[in-house]
Amino acid sequence: MKLDQVELLHVRRRLAHPFRISLGAIAAREFVVLRGRADGLTVYGEANIDARPFYASETVGTVWEMISEVLLPPLLGKSFSSIEDVCQTWRSVRGHEYAKAAVEHLYWDLLGKMRGQSIQQLLGGQGETVEVGTSHSIGEDSQAFLKDIEAALAQGIRRIKIKVQPGWDDRPLELIREHFGDITLMADANAAYMPEHIDHLAGLDRFEMLMLEQPLPPLDLVYHRELARRMRTPLCLDEGAHDLAMVENAVTLNACQIVNIKVGRVGGLSQAKLIHDWCHARQVPLWCGRRTGSGISMASELALATLSGFAYPTDHGIELVQETLDHFVDIDQFDRSAAFVRVPCRPGMGVEVDNTLLDNLAIRRLTLKSLN
Ligand SMILES: [Mg+2]
Repeated sequence: MKLDQVELLHVRRRLAHPFRISLGAIAAREFVVLRGRADGLTVYGEANIDARPFYASETVGTVWEMISEVLLPPLLGKSFSSIEDVCQTWRSVRGHEYAKAAVEHLYWDLLGKMRGQSIQQLLGGQGETVEVGTSHSIGEDSQAFLKDIEAALAQGIRRIKIKVQPGWDDRPLELIREHFGDITLMADANAAYMPEHIDHLAGLDRFEMLMLEQPLPPLDLVYHRELARRMRTPLCLDEGAHDLAMVENAVTLNACQIVNIKVGRVGGLSQAKLIHDWCHARQVPLWCGRRTGSGISMASELALATLSGFAYPTDHGIELVQETLDHFVDIDQFDRSAAFVRVPCRPGMGVEVDNTLLDNLAIRRLTLKSLN
């Protein structure tokens, strides 16, 4: 595998509807797409990170610099026989997982296209579709919030997740139970609570949720363990599950019972697969989370979600709806029914990119070429 040229494209895209989580409202997304040329093939990668460091410490700016200055220059023009060999080139680079994941994805796409295999086949996943759930924004209007959930359930969605924060948790959960009864329900706090909220959080047990996702700060395992002792509802790590070591620590210390893997947050598909294999061997259930980006990252996340340890539906449902504006990877390629999305099965990432549309959406570009 040899990349001769890679273009970085900074894309800014508005969402169909602003999405509110405990960290604030998101009206637009910015991310970095990589477009590589190799052996007559065009391959892609994507860092689906934000302009500001609110979900993760990386930003569009940091991934741009890391990819162009540090990660790509040693790779261009060099032949690699495996993805592991590619990842070895950045073994001394700490952090910057979203940047590494984007570069690694170029090689997964290339490997698949060279071998005529999909990323799903390369990873060892099974199945043609992935079940999706919806993720509901923190609401300002309870009636509109309930209508959104009603619409999702009417479409056949079987897992409803709501975003929560102090002041928006027991009331919406109560409303959902009152209106929709015993549906599969979970809540995601995006680390909005502090140790002093443990009593209150333990009281959420009465809503019989599938899980409570990332209630406390990402690196805080001590109080996650304390909360896990006090709560019947399983705790799920998201922001805190940033590498295998952290997952091993959290599971071993009984600080969580479920793990949400996001490909970019853990540094790419190779690391995601390692975490999956470790958890699956210990019967720790997983699900595959989603950050808004393009169909490039979505395609490989869906492929990952077909590994056997991914026990719960993913978040990819609502993202598909939000991504219908200005989209350079056509939504129809995912062949979406209400509650299931078809996993791309063509070689590599398995979806086509409209390069003209992508070029038109890019607000900044940089081309790096092999000097050989
Ligand atoms: Mg989450």
